[in-house]
Amino acid sequence: MEVPYKTYLNENEVPTSWYNVRADMKKKPAPLLNASTGKPCTAADLEPVFCSDLVKQELDDTTAFIPMPRPVVDFYRMFRPSPLIRAYFLEKALGTPAKIFYKFEGNNTSGSHKLNSAIAQAYYAKAQGLKGVTTETGAGQWGTALSMACAFFGLDCRVFMVKCSYEQKPFRREVMRTYGADVTPSPSMTTQIGQKINQEHPGTTGSLGCAISEAVEAAVTTPGYRYVLGSVLNQVLLHQSIIGLEASIAFKKLGVKPDVIIGCAGGGSNLGGLISPFMGEKLRGEADYRFVAVEPASCPSLTRGRYAYDYCDTGRICPLAKMYTLGADYIPSASHAGGLRYHGMSPILSELYDQKLMEAVSVRQTDVFSAAQYFARTEGILPAPESSHAIRAAIDEAIKCREAGKSETILFGLTGTGYFDMTAYQSFNDHTMGDFIPTDEDLEKAFAKLPEIG
Ligand SMILES: *Cc1c(COP(=O)(O)O)cnc(C)c1O
Repeated sequence: MEVPYKTYLNENEVPTSWYNVRADMKKKPAPLLNASTGKPCTAADLEPVFCSDLVKQELDDTTAFIPMPRPVVDFYRMFRPSPLIRAYFLEKALGTPAKIFYKFEGNNTSGSHKLNSAIAQAYYAKAQGLKGVTTETGAGQWGTALSMACAFFGLDCRVFMVKCSYEQKPFRREVMRTYGADVTPSPSMTTQIGQKINQEHPGTTGSLGCAISEAVEAAVTTPGYRYVLGSVLNQVLLHQSIIGLEASIAFKKLGVKPDVIIGCAGGGSNLGGLISPFMGEKLRGEADYRFVAVEPASCPSLTRGRYAYDYCDTGRICPLAKMYTLGADYIPSASHAGGLRYHGMSPILSELYDQKLMEAVSVRQTDVFSAAQYFARTEGILPAPESSHAIRAAIDEAIKCREAGKSETILFGLTGTGYFDMTAYQSFNDHTMGDFIPTDEDLEKAFAKLPEIG
């Protein structure tokens, strides 16, 4: 067998601009709407909530390359480029003719790709002279990444953490506190919206949608604070494009072209970032690729959701986004892939999916963990449950290649490590893990409350 290889880029090959895939989309993603006027959001609508430079990026549908600020590039150099790894051992174990590559984003202390956007958002907040930022976190990866980024630039960081994760993952919480963040379980009694949600759903384990409402309320009611979000938004996909840009440069160096590119999809940021430069080539007619979004069967926004304007948060205080959604009132079961428990999907990915430029599949939790275990035993890395959705789909694709005797090059995003997810691994190892799949009636209930727009 050949020796497994990793591809790192030299200093002069590392990207210094992000790529904005919207610039190459003929039909652009639908604009955010102001919830009170029903009109497309202007910069003035968004600036009380978000940092000004990030608002510009959010609304920019035309600039293809946006330069990374120097301090962000310097920070990236601490942990980037991330390795592109050929999964020789996995291929051999599967006996597949397919070539499998993964881009590994778990190589930093936060343990996931989320640091790529956290550092950019913290930089722009600092540059604006703000005192601090508020945010939500589900499984804890975004909160951890943001705490690190805020510590680096000397910003206050207030994190609303979905209650079930806060309780399941006390060590995550302590990592955030070690980096200086203030962490509150959500729904809490410290915001009006949190009090309301607690009243209406007593004993709720929370959701990202609730935590977002709380974090936005805290930001707009605290002078010198803005709200930052770790996924879904256009600006986050922009920052995450560094994953795809590095991968694209590395593949060119190797003289290899992926046929299919796979990523897990919660709010869509890692997948959007990974596929952006490749999607750009497809949109410009320069090359063709298959793109596959993988989501949990328990929270299937692309595969079973509606493409409609919806609220981004349970408290309905954020702008409306047109996206594939299960409805802002849908509270997914307390599955172990906390980072994939969001009711909606990035408007960019939603539009690409609607134009049939991207496919989507959903996978069951126990199948995901058997893929995670297989991957840990073959490739050595202990993957995050979220990332393992992509592993599942990549393995299924490689098995299809074996059955068809077809050699294909598969690239998937390995978004992070699973050291804080050992309760989940424990329930898998003990055979107590279940597969919650919502019924059509469950989904209809939340669809019935979608706002009537467009
Ligand atoms: C947050 C997270 C995800 C899902 O978020 P996206 O915005 O869809 O990328 C996936 N993997 C890991 C490790 C995460 O932390």
